[in-house]
Amino acid sequence: MAGQCDSNTELGFVEKVDWFKLKSIFFPSKVGGKPAWLSQNTIPSLENLTCCKCGKLMLFLLQVYAPREEKEECFHRTIYVFICRNGDCYSKNSNVSFKSFRCQLPRKNDFFSYEPLANDLESHRVIELEEELRKKWGPLCHVCGYRGDKRCAACKIATYCSKEHQVNHWKNGHKLKCSVQKSNESDVTPDLPTKLLLPEYEIVTEPEVRDEDDDCQTPLEEPNTNAYKDNKNEQLAEEAFAEVSDKQFEKFKKDISKDPDQVLRYQYGGDPLWVASEHQAKSSDIPKCSCGASRVFEFQVLPQLLNHLDVDSLCGGIDFGTLVIFTCSDNCTLSTSYAQEFVWKQDFSDTHIKFK
Ligand SMILES: [Zn+2]
Ligand SMILES: [Zn+2]
Ligand SMILES: [Zn+2]
Ligand SMILES: [Zn+2]
Repeated sequence: MAGQCDSNTELGFVEKVDWFKLKSIFFPSKVGGKPAWLSQNTIPSLENLTCCKCGKLMLFLLQVYAPREEKEECFHRTIYVFICRNGDCYSKNSNVSFKSFRCQLPRKNDFFSYEPLANDLESHRVIELEEELRKKWGPLCHVCGYRGDKRCAACKIATYCSKEHQVNHWKNGHKLKCSVQKSNESDVTPDLPTKLLLPEYEIVTEPEVRDEDDDCQTPLEEPNTNAYKDNKNEQLAEEAFAEVSDKQFEKFKKDISKDPDQVLRYQYGGDPLWVASEHQAKSSDIPKCSCGASRVFEFQVLPQLLNHLDVDSLCGGIDFGTLVIFTCSDNCTLSTSYAQEFVWKQDFSDTHIKFK
Protein backbone atom coordinates (compact mmCIF):
# COMPACT_ATOMS: atom_id res chain seq x y z
CA MET A 1 0.00 0.00 0.00
CA ALA A 2 1.34 3.43 -0.92
CA GLY A 3 2.41 5.73 1.90
CA GLN A 4 1.59 9.41 1.92
CA CYS A 5 3.77 12.49 1.99
CA ASP A 6 3.37 16.22 2.18
CA SER A 7 4.10 17.94 -1.14
CA ASN A 8 4.92 21.31 0.55
CA THR A 9 2.06 22.81 -1.42
CA GLU A 10 -0.83 24.47 0.36
CA LEU A 11 -4.13 24.10 -1.47
CA GLY A 12 -6.75 26.85 -1.34
CA PHE A 13 -10.51 26.25 -1.36
CA VAL A 14 -13.38 28.73 -1.33
CA GLU A 15 -15.88 28.85 1.52
CA LYS A 16 -18.84 31.07 2.30
CA VAL A 17 -18.44 32.85 5.66
CA ASP A 18 -20.13 35.70 7.50
CA TRP A 19 -19.28 38.95 5.68
CA PHE A 20 -17.62 40.54 8.72
CA LYS A 21 -15.02 37.75 8.97
CA LEU A 22 -13.40 39.03 5.78
CA LYS A 23 -12.52 42.51 6.99
CA SER A 24 -8.96 43.86 7.15
CA ILE A 25 -8.65 43.40 10.92
CA PHE A 26 -8.76 39.62 10.41
CA PHE A 27 -6.08 39.56 7.67
CA PRO A 28 -8.23 37.44 5.36
CA SER A 29 -7.35 35.45 2.28
CA LYS A 30 -10.39 35.94 0.11
CA VAL A 31 -11.98 36.09 -3.30
CA GLY A 32 -14.28 38.86 -4.55
CA GLY A 33 -16.05 41.71 -2.81
CA LYS A 34 -13.91 44.75 -1.99
CA PRO A 35 -10.20 44.40 -1.30
CA ALA A 36 -9.41 44.16 2.43
CA TRP A 37 -6.46 46.56 2.33
CA LEU A 38 -3.52 45.92 4.61
CA SER A 39 -1.53 49.13 4.84
CA GLN A 40 -3.66 52.23 4.59
CA ASN A 41 -0.80 54.36 3.37
CA THR A 42 -1.07 55.05 -0.31
CA ILE A 43 -3.37 52.25 -1.40
CA PRO A 44 -2.98 51.75 -5.17
CA SER A 45 -4.18 54.77 -7.12
CA LEU A 46 -6.99 54.42 -9.63
CA GLU A 47 -4.37 54.75 -12.40
CA ASN A 48 -2.53 51.77 -10.95
CA LEU A 49 -5.74 49.76 -10.90
CA THR A 50 -6.50 50.50 -14.54
CA CYS A 51 -6.18 47.92 -17.31
CA CYS A 52 -3.14 48.67 -19.48
CA LYS A 53 -5.07 47.70 -22.58
CA CYS A 54 -8.52 49.32 -22.39
CA GLY A 55 -7.91 51.91 -19.67
CA LYS A 56 -10.91 50.80 -17.60
CA LEU A 57 -10.85 50.24 -13.86
CA MET A 58 -9.98 46.64 -13.06
CA LEU A 59 -11.97 44.19 -10.94
CA PHE A 60 -10.63 42.82 -7.65
CA LEU A 61 -10.18 39.05 -8.02
CA LEU A 62 -8.56 37.83 -4.80
CA GLN A 63 -6.01 38.37 -2.06
CA VAL A 64 -3.77 35.92 -0.22
CA TYR A 65 -2.46 36.63 3.28
CA ALA A 66 1.06 35.21 3.33
CA PRO A 67 3.38 36.50 6.09
CA ARG A 68 7.11 35.73 5.82
CA GLU A 69 9.20 35.06 8.90
CA GLU A 70 12.56 36.10 7.50
CA LYS A 71 11.85 39.81 7.69
CA GLU A 72 10.35 41.89 10.46
CA GLU A 73 8.56 44.04 7.82
CA CYS A 74 6.71 40.96 6.53
CA PHE A 75 4.99 40.04 9.78
CA HIS A 76 1.80 40.88 7.90
CA ARG A 77 1.93 40.43 4.15
CA THR A 78 -0.81 40.23 1.53
CA ILE A 79 -0.72 39.66 -2.24
CA TYR A 80 -3.59 41.11 -4.30
CA VAL A 81 -4.71 40.15 -7.83
CA PHE A 82 -6.83 42.30 -10.15
CA ILE A 83 -8.32 41.46 -13.57
CA CYS A 84 -9.93 43.43 -16.38
CA ARG A 85 -13.73 43.48 -16.69
CA ASN A 86 -13.57 43.77 -20.45
CA GLY A 87 -13.70 40.47 -22.33
CA ASP A 88 -12.09 42.07 -25.39
CA CYS A 89 -8.86 42.52 -23.44
CA TYR A 90 -8.23 38.80 -23.03
CA SER A 91 -6.13 36.91 -25.50
CA LYS A 92 -4.42 33.57 -25.32
CA ASN A 93 -1.40 33.44 -22.99
CA SER A 94 -1.39 37.22 -22.57
CA ASN A 95 -1.04 38.72 -19.10
CA VAL A 96 -1.74 42.27 -20.22
CA SER A 97 -5.08 42.61 -18.39
CA PHE A 98 -3.91 41.24 -15.02
CA LYS A 99 -2.12 42.97 -12.14
CA SER A 100 -0.79 41.93 -8.78
CA PHE A 101 0.39 43.96 -5.78
CA ARG A 102 2.26 43.03 -2.61
CA CYS A 103 1.81 44.88 0.67
CA GLN A 104 3.51 44.21 3.99
CA LEU A 105 3.64 45.60 7.52
CA PRO A 106 5.70 44.92 10.65
CA ARG A 107 3.94 43.57 13.72
CA LYS A 108 4.13 46.98 15.35
CA ASN A 109 2.34 49.33 12.99
CA ASP A 110 -0.08 52.24 12.94
CA PHE A 111 -3.17 50.28 12.01
CA PHE A 112 -3.53 46.86 13.61
CA SER A 113 -3.23 45.61 17.16
CA TYR A 114 0.04 43.98 18.23
CA GLU A 115 -1.80 40.96 19.64
CA PRO A 116 -4.20 38.99 17.45
CA LEU A 117 -7.90 39.70 17.91
CA ALA A 118 -10.24 37.03 19.18
CA ASN A 119 -11.82 35.54 16.10
CA ASP A 120 -15.22 35.25 17.73
CA LEU A 121 -15.75 39.02 17.78
CA GLU A 122 -19.36 40.08 17.35
CA SER A 123 -20.20 41.84 14.11
CA HIS A 124 -20.92 45.19 15.82
CA ARG A 125 -17.44 45.15 17.39
CA VAL A 126 -15.90 44.39 13.99
CA ILE A 127 -17.74 47.39 12.54
CA GLU A 128 -16.40 49.64 15.32
CA LEU A 129 -12.83 48.48 14.79
CA GLU A 130 -13.07 48.81 11.04
CA GLU A 131 -14.50 52.29 11.36
CA GLU A 132 -11.57 53.31 13.54
CA LEU A 133 -9.34 52.04 10.78
CA ARG A 134 -11.30 53.97 8.17
CA LYS A 135 -10.40 57.21 9.87
CA LYS A 136 -6.75 56.48 9.14
CA TRP A 137 -7.57 55.51 5.59
CA GLY A 138 -8.18 58.14 2.98
CA PRO A 139 -11.70 58.08 1.54
CA LEU A 140 -12.61 54.83 -0.22
CA CYS A 141 -15.30 54.17 -2.81
CA HIS A 142 -18.42 52.88 -1.10
CA VAL A 143 -19.04 50.44 -3.94
CA CYS A 144 -15.67 48.96 -4.94
CA GLY A 145 -13.38 49.86 -2.03
CA TYR A 146 -10.80 51.62 -4.23
CA ARG A 147 -9.69 55.18 -3.59
CA GLY A 148 -12.80 57.41 -3.55
CA ASP A 149 -12.16 61.12 -3.84
CA LYS A 150 -15.63 62.01 -5.16
CA ARG A 151 -18.30 62.75 -2.57
CA CYS A 152 -22.12 62.58 -2.59
CA ALA A 153 -23.20 66.22 -2.93
CA ALA A 154 -26.27 65.74 -0.72
CA CYS A 155 -24.92 64.02 2.40
CA LYS A 156 -21.23 64.78 1.85
CA ILE A 157 -20.48 61.48 3.57
CA ALA A 158 -20.56 58.71 0.97
CA THR A 159 -17.46 58.68 -1.24
CA TYR A 160 -16.87 57.12 -4.65
CA CYS A 161 -14.17 56.38 -7.17
CA SER A 162 -16.36 57.42 -10.09
CA LYS A 163 -19.70 58.78 -11.20
CA GLU A 164 -20.65 55.26 -12.33
CA HIS A 165 -20.27 53.84 -8.83
CA GLN A 166 -22.09 56.77 -7.29
CA VAL A 167 -25.06 56.15 -9.58
CA ASN A 168 -24.93 52.44 -8.78
CA HIS A 169 -24.93 53.09 -5.04
CA TRP A 170 -27.77 55.59 -5.34
CA LYS A 171 -29.94 53.03 -7.09
CA ASN A 172 -28.93 50.29 -4.65
CA GLY A 173 -30.18 52.03 -1.55
CA HIS A 174 -28.27 55.25 -0.95
CA LYS A 175 -31.25 57.14 -2.37
CA LEU A 176 -33.17 56.20 0.77
CA LYS A 177 -30.33 56.39 3.29
CA CYS A 178 -28.72 59.58 2.03
CA SER A 179 -31.22 62.00 3.58
CA VAL A 180 -32.46 59.82 6.46
CA GLN A 181 -29.28 58.55 8.08
CA LYS A 182 -26.94 61.31 7.13
CA SER A 183 -24.44 60.77 9.85
CA ASN A 184 -24.45 57.07 10.57
CA GLU A 185 -24.45 55.12 7.37
CA SER A 186 -21.48 52.84 7.65
CA ASP A 187 -19.62 51.69 4.60
CA VAL A 188 -18.34 48.73 6.62
CA THR A 189 -21.65 46.88 6.65
CA PRO A 190 -22.56 44.86 3.57
CA ASP A 191 -24.35 46.70 0.80
CA LEU A 192 -27.17 45.37 -1.26
CA PRO A 193 -25.79 42.97 -3.83
CA THR A 194 -24.20 44.86 -6.64
CA LYS A 195 -23.47 43.52 -10.05
CA LEU A 196 -20.15 45.35 -9.95
CA LEU A 197 -18.12 43.04 -7.70
CA LEU A 198 -17.36 39.34 -7.76
CA PRO A 199 -19.12 37.15 -5.17
CA GLU A 200 -17.16 37.04 -1.94
CA TYR A 201 -15.63 33.91 -0.40
CA GLU A 202 -12.98 33.12 2.15
CA ILE A 203 -9.98 31.16 0.88
CA VAL A 204 -9.13 28.41 3.35
CA THR A 205 -5.96 26.37 2.91
CA GLU A 206 -4.78 22.90 3.77
CA PRO A 207 -1.58 21.00 2.89
CA GLU A 208 -1.65 18.87 -0.20
CA VAL A 209 -1.15 15.19 0.59
CA ARG A 210 0.36 12.96 -2.08
CA ASP A 211 0.86 9.26 -2.40
CA GLU A 212 4.56 8.50 -2.05
CA ASP A 213 4.72 6.71 -5.35
CA ASP A 214 3.39 9.75 -7.21
CA ASP A 215 6.07 10.61 -9.66
CA CYS A 216 5.65 14.32 -9.21
CA GLN A 217 9.21 15.48 -9.73
CA THR A 218 10.04 13.81 -13.05
CA PRO A 219 10.08 16.44 -15.77
CA LEU A 220 8.23 15.66 -18.92
CA GLU A 221 10.28 14.97 -22.00
CA GLU A 222 10.72 17.87 -24.36
CA PRO A 223 8.92 17.34 -27.62
CA ASN A 224 11.34 16.06 -30.21
CA THR A 225 10.23 18.22 -33.06
CA ASN A 226 13.62 18.63 -34.72
CA ALA A 227 13.55 15.26 -36.42
CA TYR A 228 10.29 16.17 -38.04
CA LYS A 229 11.54 19.59 -39.05
CA ASP A 230 14.46 17.91 -40.81
CA ASN A 231 11.86 16.16 -42.90
CA LYS A 232 10.12 19.46 -43.50
CA ASN A 233 6.97 17.87 -42.25
CA GLU A 234 5.59 20.58 -40.05
CA GLN A 235 2.23 19.02 -39.61
CA LEU A 236 3.78 15.98 -37.97
CA ALA A 237 5.86 18.28 -35.79
CA GLU A 238 2.76 20.06 -34.62
CA GLU A 239 1.08 16.80 -33.86
CA ALA A 240 4.06 15.71 -31.78
CA PHE A 241 3.86 18.95 -29.86
CA ALA A 242 0.14 18.62 -29.32
CA GLU A 243 0.66 15.11 -27.99
CA VAL A 244 3.14 16.33 -25.39
CA SER A 245 0.87 19.26 -24.55
CA ASP A 246 -1.80 16.79 -23.77
CA LYS A 247 0.64 14.94 -21.53
CA GLN A 248 1.19 18.07 -19.48
CA PHE A 249 -2.54 18.60 -19.35
CA GLU A 250 -2.97 14.98 -18.26
CA LYS A 251 -0.40 15.53 -15.52
CA PHE A 252 -2.23 18.67 -14.43
CA LYS A 253 -5.52 16.80 -14.28
CA LYS A 254 -3.93 13.90 -12.39
CA ASP A 255 -2.22 16.17 -9.85
CA ILE A 256 -5.37 18.03 -8.97
CA SER A 257 -7.69 15.03 -9.15
CA LYS A 258 -7.33 14.19 -5.46
CA ASP A 259 -8.63 17.62 -4.51
CA PRO A 260 -10.71 18.63 -7.50
CA ASP A 261 -12.20 21.68 -5.74
CA GLN A 262 -8.87 23.44 -5.19
CA VAL A 263 -8.82 26.97 -6.60
CA LEU A 264 -5.29 27.94 -5.58
CA ARG A 265 -1.90 26.31 -5.07
CA TYR A 266 0.61 28.04 -2.78
CA GLN A 267 4.28 27.05 -2.60
CA TYR A 268 6.63 29.95 -1.93
CA GLY A 269 9.78 29.48 -4.00
CA GLY A 270 8.44 26.24 -5.49
CA ASP A 271 7.31 25.37 -8.99
CA PRO A 272 3.96 26.04 -10.57
CA LEU A 273 1.88 23.19 -11.91
CA TRP A 274 1.66 24.06 -15.61
CA VAL A 275 -1.52 23.29 -17.51
CA ALA A 276 0.16 22.92 -20.91
CA SER A 277 3.63 22.43 -22.38
CA GLU A 278 3.60 25.64 -24.29
CA HIS A 279 4.00 29.08 -22.71
CA GLN A 280 5.56 27.93 -19.44
CA ALA A 281 7.48 30.83 -17.87
CA LYS A 282 11.26 30.49 -18.00
CA SER A 283 13.31 32.47 -15.52
CA SER A 284 14.26 34.87 -18.33
CA ASP A 285 10.54 35.61 -18.82
CA ILE A 286 10.11 36.90 -15.26
CA PRO A 287 11.18 40.53 -14.89
CA LYS A 288 13.21 41.49 -11.86
CA CYS A 289 11.57 43.55 -9.14
CA SER A 290 12.27 47.27 -9.37
CA CYS A 291 14.58 46.83 -6.33
CA GLY A 292 16.82 44.62 -8.50
CA ALA A 293 16.05 41.27 -6.85
CA SER A 294 14.74 38.35 -8.89
CA ARG A 295 11.19 37.14 -8.42
CA VAL A 296 10.11 33.72 -7.15
CA PHE A 297 6.99 31.67 -7.70
CA GLU A 298 4.53 32.22 -4.89
CA PHE A 299 1.11 30.86 -5.89
CA GLN A 300 -1.14 30.08 -8.82
CA VAL A 301 -4.85 30.52 -9.36
CA LEU A 302 -6.62 27.56 -10.94
CA PRO A 303 -9.47 27.70 -13.45
CA GLN A 304 -11.79 25.93 -11.00
CA LEU A 305 -12.18 29.33 -9.35
CA LEU A 306 -14.15 30.51 -12.38
CA ASN A 307 -16.90 28.03 -11.51
CA HIS A 308 -17.59 30.05 -8.36
CA LEU A 309 -17.72 33.47 -10.01
CA ASP A 310 -20.28 35.14 -12.19
CA VAL A 311 -17.66 35.72 -14.85
CA ASP A 312 -19.88 35.95 -17.89
CA SER A 313 -21.73 39.03 -16.72
CA LEU A 314 -18.95 40.61 -14.65
CA CYS A 315 -15.84 40.26 -16.72
CA GLY A 316 -16.79 39.39 -20.24
CA GLY A 317 -16.36 35.64 -19.91
CA ILE A 318 -12.77 35.70 -18.67
CA ASP A 319 -11.03 32.37 -19.06
CA PHE A 320 -7.57 31.12 -18.13
CA GLY A 321 -5.66 27.89 -17.65
CA THR A 322 -3.77 29.28 -14.69
CA LEU A 323 -2.60 32.64 -13.33
CA VAL A 324 0.87 32.31 -11.84
CA ILE A 325 2.06 34.96 -9.38
CA PHE A 326 5.78 35.72 -8.99
CA THR A 327 6.92 38.06 -6.20
CA CYS A 328 10.13 39.83 -5.17
CA SER A 329 12.51 37.32 -3.54
CA ASP A 330 13.77 40.06 -1.24
CA ASN A 331 10.29 41.23 -0.15
CA CYS A 332 11.61 44.75 -0.53
CA THR A 333 9.93 47.74 1.02
CA LEU A 334 9.38 50.27 -1.72
CA SER A 335 8.37 53.87 -1.37
CA THR A 336 4.83 52.89 -2.31
CA SER A 337 3.14 50.61 0.21
CA TYR A 338 1.84 48.43 -2.59
CA ALA A 339 4.58 47.06 -4.81
CA GLN A 340 3.52 45.73 -8.18
CA GLU A 341 4.40 42.09 -8.76
CA PHE A 342 4.26 39.86 -11.83
CA VAL A 343 1.41 37.75 -13.21
CA TRP A 344 1.96 35.07 -15.85
CA LYS A 345 -1.12 33.75 -17.62
CA GLN A 346 -1.06 30.32 -19.20
CA ASP A 347 -3.97 28.94 -21.18
CA PHE A 348 -4.73 25.39 -22.13
CA SER A 349 -2.91 24.43 -25.29
CA ASP A 350 -6.10 23.45 -27.04
CA THR A 351 -8.62 26.23 -26.73
CA HIS A 352 -11.36 23.65 -27.08
CA ILE A 353 -10.40 22.07 -23.77
CA LYS A 354 -12.85 23.36 -21.25
CA PHE A 355 -11.77 22.53 -17.78
CA LYS A 356 -14.51 21.77 -15.31
ZN1 LIG B 1 -8.96 45.90 -20.24
ZN1 LIG C 1 -15.76 52.49 -7.02
ZN1 LIG D 1 -25.51 60.90 0.03
ZN1 LIG E 1 11.88 43.99 -4.66
